Amino acid sequence: MIDSDFIAGLPKAELHLHIEGSLEPELMFALAKRNGIAIPFASVEDVRAAYNFSRLQDFLDIYYAGADVLREARDFHDLAAAYFDRAAADGVVHAEIMFDPQTHTARGVAFETVITGLLSAIDEAKAKHGMSVQLILSFLRHLDEADAIATLDAARPWVDRIGAVGLDSSELGHPPEKFARVFAQARALGLKLVAHAGEEGPPEYVYQALDLLGVDRLDHGNRSLEDPLLVTRLARSGMTLTVCPLSNLKLCVVDDMTAHPIDRMLREGLRATVNSDDPAYFGGYIADNYRAIAAARGLGRDDLVTLARNSFLGSFLPDAAVTAHLARLDAYVAQAPAE
Ligand SMILES: [Zn+2]
Repeated sequence: MIDSDFIAGLPKAELHLHIEGSLEPELMFALAKRNGIAIPFASVEDVRAAYNFSRLQDFLDIYYAGADVLREARDFHDLAAAYFDRAAADGVVHAEIMFDPQTHTARGVAFETVITGLLSAIDEAKAKHGMSVQLILSFLRHLDEADAIATLDAARPWVDRIGAVGLDSSELGHPPEKFARVFAQARALGLKLVAHAGEEGPPEYVYQALDLLGVDRLDHGNRSLEDPLLVTRLARSGMTLTVCPLSNLKLCVVDDMTAHPIDRMLREGLRATVNSDDPAYFGGYIADNYRAIAAARGLGRDDLVTLARNSFLGSFLPDAAVTAHLARLDAYVAQAPAE
């Protein structure tokens, strides 16, 4: 029996979410129509059928095709607003969301258009849901570092509204070391640093993210488990891992949810969190991820609360805000009806 209502009400932070990956087929169609754009799908059902991929690259191909409907600031606003509504319903009180400017600037949409739309939705989410949101500007690692540096330069006028930079897209063949200079520049601007590492890539990529980029948080990090010394290091340093169970299943990082290592990560002392990654494409938002992992691995309330606690501890919120969120979490658990 899954503790479904308990999970939905559990105050939590989402730390690994690509806003372009929250584009639902219905919104893709609506935006295509509004902007007069032809898309290679005849119906919402066609799009859903195309989501039946099993490799990161196949997913990325349709992901970039779908993003083409995003043209005006109001499109980015509507995309983010739809995500914030869903996240609020899932108990998310704080979100640190990634956006991929290069996906848009490469097709002629200005950086300003993207960030203006996102920021207006963020301001609205604060007023509407009481949700705090930080933006993570994520570089596409299949492009070269000069392109990432140009993107960081374009972001400079908005740097006080950006919390961190990240690194996503095709991992294999694009190791973190390729981006050491742009990450150093971002750190000099006062930004936090995150990077996808150890999803498809080997433990070596995790070492590079730590040692060459100096990341403050690791996205995924699953393959760290192959290296006991790395696990010890991550546990001792309190490094947060943003784990995405439904994504792991869809992209075959795990063969079956019953084989997911989330509870092993917790037992090994890793600060693991649960997140939704690209929810429109992977079959569920954050509460669905908690439910899936709880059902498959038989997680009880203690583990679910630990995962939520870790999400605040691993956030980039100031200490006072983290303390306030943890108190709210404790109060929720104390008043929750018995299982
Ligand atoms: Zn991701």
